[in-house]
Amino acid sequence: MAARALEKPRRLLLAVLLIGVPLAAALAAGWAAADAETDLRARAHAQLALYDANLRAELERHAAIPLALAQDAEVAALLSDPTPERVDRMNRKLEGIAQALGASAFYIMDSSGLTLTASNWNAPATFVGQNFAYRPYFRMAIERGEGHHFALGTTSFIPGYYTAHRVMAENRTLGAVVLKVGFERLERAWAPGQEKLLVTDRDGMVFVTNVEEWRYRALPRRLPLTPPPVPDEGLDVLPWAFGGASDRIAVAGNGTERRYLLSSVAVPGGDWTLHSLTGLEPVTARAQIAGLLAAAAVALGAVAAYALALRRVAMTERLALQDEARAELERRVAEATAELRETENELTQAAKLAALGQMSAGIAHEINQPLAAMRSYADNAVVLLERGRMESVRTNLGEIAELTDRMAAITRQLKGFARRASGTLGPVSANGAVAQALSLLEARLRRDEVAVETDLPEPAVWVVGEDVRLQQVLVNLIGNAADAMRDAPVRRLRIVLTAADGAALLSIADSGTGIRESDLPRLFVPFFTTKEAGEGLGLGLSISHGIVEDFGGNLTAANRQPDAPDGSDTPPASGAVFTLRLKTTEQPS
Ligand code: ADP
Repeated sequence: MAARALEKPRRLLLAVLLIGVPLAAALAAGWAAADAETDLRARAHAQLALYDANLRAELERHAAIPLALAQDAEVAALLSDPTPERVDRMNRKLEGIAQALGASAFYIMDSSGLTLTASNWNAPATFVGQNFAYRPYFRMAIERGEGHHFALGTTSFIPGYYTAHRVMAENRTLGAVVLKVGFERLERAWAPGQEKLLVTDRDGMVFVTNVEEWRYRALPRRLPLTPPPVPDEGLDVLPWAFGGASDRIAVAGNGTERRYLLSSVAVPGGDWTLHSLTGLEPVTARAQIAGLLAAAAVALGAVAAYALALRRVAMTERLALQDEARAELERRVAEATAELRETENELTQAAKLAALGQMSAGIAHEINQPLAAMRSYADNAVVLLERGRMESVRTNLGEIAELTDRMAAITRQLKGFARRASGTLGPVSANGAVAQALSLLEARLRRDEVAVETDLPEPAVWVVGEDVRLQQVLVNLIGNAADAMRDAPVRRLRIVLTAADGAALLSIADSGTGIRESDLPRLFVPFFTTKEAGEGLGLGLSISHGIVEDFGGNLTAANRQPDAPDGSDTPPASGAVFTLRLKTTEQPS
């Protein structure tokens, strides 16, 4: 039963574990990832702005130096007349300044773009003698007085920021002073950062970066930039792959693949773009944690629900078991009751048979004695008749008639026993029945010197019963009392009648021998008697009991106690009390 009841919860649990848990994990992970990515993107942009400012500050740091030098009379003199001494002196001066500033190069060009003197005059790849007229910063400086440009050095191939200032004398353009600042310092400052940073030129080539192996490699064409980079043929492309969103890239390296968020910003004053790559690990971590938490929560919930279902099934089962046990108990009680009834029936049967035996013996004894006497009276009468003694014959016949009367009395009793259930019930005056019974027995009670006390209420109490039979019961009880008191020193009979709550109680108490405790339970059994043979058949109480039950009442016997409830002021120490309980009824009108 449990297995069947648990099948549904078990299937549900399995479904939740197999489908619900991964689904919840995926949903939570997706939601957390989106949330974390938004955060990360905002942070990356803020960071990028900072790097941008950083980059610009670095570039502007020495922007005033070329301006100052452009005002220098020595420079103007040099440009007007570049004698070897002037060139030499200026070379050393520029070298000194460049060293002090940490700049890549510091040089002076004439109005045709030819470099006359440079801080790297002494280096193999010196700018001296080179013409950079085509460089935008030069053109801008000549035209507008000042020019800026990011570029890769054509001679050195070292990227730098060029700041150029025009040199004028008497409204004549003499040339330009140019300072090139490298990014080594900046790159060193960026190196420990979490982000990977790179600056690309118009062609998408990386010039400045804190990832050494990316320098001079090209951005992939697919980079979502406007305008898109046009990498030179033959340039190494960065090992980037683009994932789902346009700003997400995967970078291969060392056999692993790291994923980044790409943010880009154009650097003003050039065609350069600053990019930052921010690791997506926090997003993944947050997604994983959220997924795990959601999975755990759903799994836990499912298991808890299952446990609850288990408990419910167990409880139902326990209740069913209890029901079964109760049913089994009831069945056993019914069985035992049936057995008991059977035994009782058997016992009753045995008691009936015993009673029948007793009765037969009693009747045989009662009848045999008068029969034997009648026989001898009859025999004697025949002899007396032959002798002509008529008077004696008459006496004998009188004895015979008396004996037949006694036998008739015995059979009358038997008939009464057989007839006890007949008759119709009606209102009977209990007071009247008591008076009648006492008057029937008056002669005997007087002969035995029995003191009779009655306590009967007025008006009379009416009970359910039958006149003659109630009298029969009372005659029997009073007769028995008189029998019991025959040899007693005090012979007192007390009859008390009370009525309350629809019941009348009629008690007949005597000061006789009382009843042996062992006899009390069988007092009402037919043919139970303690009297000598010929004095009692043992039917009186049995018949009385039956009659009273027919009336819907009951008859009980007890021994009187010193404070017996009969109300006597001086109760005898012993004696029996019989109590009739009858239903009261309305007095007939
Ligand atoms: P019987 O009078 O023929 O013996 P009953 O059925 O009237 O038959 O009484 C049965 C027995 O109950 C009596 O033999 C006697 O032992 C006992 N009994 C009845 N009434 C009294 C009484 N008032 N006091 C003592 N014993 C009594």
